[in-house]
Amino acid sequence: MTTKTTTNDAVTIDNIITLCKSRGFVFPGSDIYDGLANTWDYGPLGVELKNHIKKLWWREFVTANENSVGLDGGILMNRNVWVASGHVSGFSDPLMDCKECQTRTRADKLIENNDANINADGWTNQALEDYINQHHLVCPNCGKFNWTPIRQFNLMFETHRGVTKDNADQIFLRPETAQSEYINFQNVQRSMRLKVPFGIGQIGKAFRNEITPGNFIFRTVEFEQMEHQFFCHANDSMAWYEKYKQKIWHFITKVLGVREENLRFHDHEKLVFYAKAACDMEYHFPFGWGELNGTHHRGVHDLTNHQNLSKKSMEYLDPITNEKYIPTVIESSQGVERLFLAILCDAYRTETLADGDTRVVLKLNPNLAPYQICVLPLQKKGLTETATKLYRELQQNFNVTYDDAGSIGKRYRRQDEIGTPLCITVDYDTLEDQSVTIRDRDTMEQVRVKLTDLNAKINELLTKSF
Ligand code: ATP
Repeated sequence: MTTKTTTNDAVTIDNIITLCKSRGFVFPGSDIYDGLANTWDYGPLGVELKNHIKKLWWREFVTANENSVGLDGGILMNRNVWVASGHVSGFSDPLMDCKECQTRTRADKLIENNDANINADGWTNQALEDYINQHHLVCPNCGKFNWTPIRQFNLMFETHRGVTKDNADQIFLRPETAQSEYINFQNVQRSMRLKVPFGIGQIGKAFRNEITPGNFIFRTVEFEQMEHQFFCHANDSMAWYEKYKQKIWHFITKVLGVREENLRFHDHEKLVFYAKAACDMEYHFPFGWGELNGTHHRGVHDLTNHQNLSKKSMEYLDPITNEKYIPTVIESSQGVERLFLAILCDAYRTETLADGDTRVVLKLNPNLAPYQICVLPLQKKGLTETATKLYRELQQNFNVTYDDAGSIGKRYRRQDEIGTPLCITVDYDTLEDQSVTIRDRDTMEQVRVKLTDLNAKINELLTKSF
């Protein structure tokens, strides 16, 4: 059957939320207890998609990246880590309350939502208030203009470690993964005998007490970061910064397959005092442009601060030049869930087919799709044994699911909706001719293939450009 029209212009965040819940990608957190704001659970398909994103990132930034190694640091760390990093004193959001409807709003996001070309990260409270007053930015909830002054709220989740609460130490759930890469700089460099420049990559959970509405999984209180810190000499640092900007562009467009027209870089005009350059990579979500990644030239700020507070040297002695210096850091930081959301929005299509029927199809890159293949017996009667055997065999090499419930047309639609690139149908002829039919998700074309040629044909179809 050929496609008459293809469009995903109409994709809304509600389309994505509905698909995610009904097909087992994402469920509201603590659902049976009326939920917990900005928390989500990843279902059977969601966990596959997340794992695929993480696996591809790990390969791109760690195992197949020059001079890079991995780390899996603890979520709980000594409180001084967060004193040195500046999070105890300064990791806060500028919030104000609407005096009319009591809704709390982030001042910087209110400004950015008003003008997509502004990045208000790092603005002073005064600068934020001046802009809001000059442009008369009203409450997004009730439309009134009656704000309290802006106050800073720390985003770190605090907890205590110790036997009784009175003498317990205050500790924090980490709000980012990067700090363990900094504090382990010497451990990693020495144990692996690495020479600068080199990078440390890490994937792990981070926690932020985010107040503002979440836009589904875009802004959550618990999320996973994939962060890569590259340690280099100051003289080469801008070249590495540009290289890591290009690397994340390549990863998101070529490795994950997100369409370039929905992506852009947004350079920060106002930089924090220690940074030499910083930019965000943004995706055009149904609710507007939103940050997926940050690439930051952080100078020697992080290692210097840890050296000063810990009194442990963070210097590197170059064995060739004998120069002793604190390396400059180039950071590439991205959230797994934001990429997950961008990938779904980008892949979602509603198609009208030649016979007037419509289908929803997720045009996912086969390396990301929760399942690469679905095995379907045309009928249960007489075909289950052959189909199950094939399913078990294919599982040795591919991510495979099995579906024998309902009409074959409905089963194809279910697989289209979750992005399975190939459906393999076992029919009565299979018993005679030892062949099966492979249906392509995107073209819906079908080819008949001998079982002996099946693995080779699957590999060929999965590596064609999607
Ligand atoms: P934003 O401006 O959207 O709050 P940020 O600048 O604070 O983001 P970073 O601290 O640079 O973000 O974190 C790096 C990456 O971690 C972000 O690009 C994003 O992909 C992800 N991230 C940050 N905060 C959250 C969150 N609350 N929920 C989900 N992902 C997040």
